[in-house]
Amino acid sequence: MRIRPHVLASHTLLLLMLGLTGLARGAAPYSSTTGVADYAIVNARIYTQNDWTPWAHAMAVAGDKVIYVGEPEGDAWKAAVGPGTKVHDLQGRMVLPGLIDSHTHPGLVTLSSWHTILPWTMDPHEQLRFLAEWAKAHPNQPVIDAELYPTQMFGASGPSRQLIDQYVPDRAVIWEDFSGHSAVLNSKALKLMGIDRNTKDPEPGVRYFVRDAQGEPTGWAKENAYSDYLPKLYKAAKWAPPSRVSADSLARTLDFLTDNGVVAVFDARTEEGTFDALTQLEKANRLNLYYEGSVLLQSRLELESRLDLLRDWQKKYGSPHLRVNTLKLFLDGTNELETSSLLEPFAHDPAKRVDPRMSLDDLVSTLLVMNDRGVDLHIHMTGDRTFRTALDAVQEARKRLGEKWRIQVTFAHCELINDADFARVAPLGVLINWTPHWSGGYFQGVLETLGPQRHANLYRFQPIISLGGTMTFGSDTTTLYEWSRANPYFGMQIAHTRFDVEPRYQAYGMKAPASEMLQLPDLVRGYTRNAAKQLRLSPILGSLEPGKLASFVVLNQNLFEAPVDRIHETAPTAVVFEGRVIRGAL
Ligand SMILES: [Zn+2]
Repeated sequence: MRIRPHVLASHTLLLLMLGLTGLARGAAPYSSTTGVADYAIVNARIYTQNDWTPWAHAMAVAGDKVIYVGEPEGDAWKAAVGPGTKVHDLQGRMVLPGLIDSHTHPGLVTLSSWHTILPWTMDPHEQLRFLAEWAKAHPNQPVIDAELYPTQMFGASGPSRQLIDQYVPDRAVIWEDFSGHSAVLNSKALKLMGIDRNTKDPEPGVRYFVRDAQGEPTGWAKENAYSDYLPKLYKAAKWAPPSRVSADSLARTLDFLTDNGVVAVFDARTEEGTFDALTQLEKANRLNLYYEGSVLLQSRLELESRLDLLRDWQKKYGSPHLRVNTLKLFLDGTNELETSSLLEPFAHDPAKRVDPRMSLDDLVSTLLVMNDRGVDLHIHMTGDRTFRTALDAVQEARKRLGEKWRIQVTFAHCELINDADFARVAPLGVLINWTPHWSGGYFQGVLETLGPQRHANLYRFQPIISLGGTMTFGSDTTTLYEWSRANPYFGMQIAHTRFDVEPRYQAYGMKAPASEMLQLPDLVRGYTRNAAKQLRLSPILGSLEPGKLASFVVLNQNLFEAPVDRIHETAPTAVVFEGRVIRGAL
């Protein structure tokens, strides 16, 4: 029997599963009889993520599949392990199912390789002096994309073009904000893009050009309002950065994930060039993970055309390892930039009010259409009003669809949640996606925009887990600048301690409240089994049990025994993908 989690509240389901575990104790290990293993591991600490054998010491693999998980004894074990089976003694090492990064951007990371990386400092002049030197050393670079100025460097009033002009007046400069959602342009860039006092804002109050008292753009563009003007800039500058990733450059980016034992990713906004490169990698047998892409949806009006595009991509690129069955919607912006949608006014600018970028009615009808087409939805949201609106939409759509409800809806980021909404998550069957490495002091600037009370109540997910909700975890990395933070063990440590690993962010101390430190079993679950659910890969990945793929990692230390400030040093001694050892050795 397949229990549909949305019919039962998840905590009821959990109790059922615990009951099953109790019954199974002492019974024969969960196993299957599909042939004799090519190899087996023994003397391992396997954290299986299956409910029948949560911990095991032995596992047998035939071809690309697990055929046995349990103890190295009994009839089923003897049937699985024959004279030709190679047996590896793992000497007590910890084994996890292959990890899944359920929100990231490998294509964007790869495309960012031409950007200039600035030194980390709170002094804008120090960054800009570096940039001026860099520009002098690279005279043939007519457009410069500089990463990143700390968001809190300028506060809510923001930076200006004149500041950059003092240092680099002759080349177009895009100076990106740490939040990843805004940038400041110098006068040359504005000129080449044709942006002036008469330029309309793409989305007033959300995606817009900040103006001075005379109505002239200051250069600061929120929610990257300038991005539509980039083609014009490159044309005027007679230069363009690589616009499509190559198979080799993408493979180099993905290698880092493989090194860390990541066997599947969800790309939260895929460019078509990424699929081209992935197809080449798969044909050349160089793709060592499952890749679920997504198509960007910006409004209810374009829903049909985006669904058509998704179908086209499915036909063109769909393959065993490449899938695209999700639309990505930005329902608001960020709390740092006052582009989030809030229940209470902003602390810095109480007169400002931002509505969710899709109305409740439009969101409900979007869900109904997508449910009909069998396409899932991944929603970016940071404000508490956005979170509530999205829950309201799911509630209404489920009411109307009843038993026909089948769409999977994931809420990503969810930085600010009102207390009244925690208990609604599990019964509505929404998945909550979080970026563990943000849990410490990585992002700053919210104290000024939201005020001290809400600032002290950010990133609260323990109530969701305690109330039976399902959490999935990802790295949400968008540039090479932060790619090293896509390491899942690095993320686990920060979410477990709410304290960053990198000294530059440790200056902000531990992120309150301490009661929101996530527990390691919940973190592992969110990186494996729950993430497999989000990507609809549960039949093959997410746990180690007979019939599923033998995709797993052997770790250099036991996560539960490592000192908490050393969890980020966890690294695979072997990575196995579909039965093949692709890193290290067993
Ligand atoms: Zn993202």
